[in-house]
Amino acid sequence: MSACSFCSLPKKDILFETDTSRVREGDGAHHGHVQVIFKRHETDVLQLSKKEYAAFCDDLRTVAKAVQEVLAPDTLNYALYGNWVAHLHWHIYPRYKTDPDFAQPPILNWKVMGARVRPARVRLEPKPFSKIEKRKLKVTLEK
Ligand SMILES: [Zn+2]
Repeated sequence: MSACSFCSLPKKDILFETDTSRVREGDGAHHGHVQVIFKRHETDVLQLSKKEYAAFCDDLRTVAKAVQEVLAPDTLNYALYGNWVAHLHWHIYPRYKTDPDFAQPPILNWKVMGARVRPARVRLEPKPFSKIEKRKLKVTLEK
């Protein structure tokens, strides 16, 4: 068994998968937060071929489009990381004008090991997908 949390994602947690990426629900505070995870251990886009980068970005766009269709947020925020878990991974955050922290970056409401990364003026608690939303997202992604 791999010690890497992204290599050992339980199948039940994978919402969608391509040759390039796996998609899972994120654990950030913003409703509908998902992650698009590059399958191989790579930590920087400069390590990818142009073809791999294009496929990874195409997966991001596919997932963003499905999240937009299912949750209808006012906008989406994106972030790309690869330095904490050794897989490049996009975060997609649906954002609503009614969010109390709409003008803040989503990272301010992240919790790491139970503590917030940085103090946010407005604190949100995680609000996972409902079963219906999760089913709709999977169906939309499989189209
Ligand atoms: Zn891994």
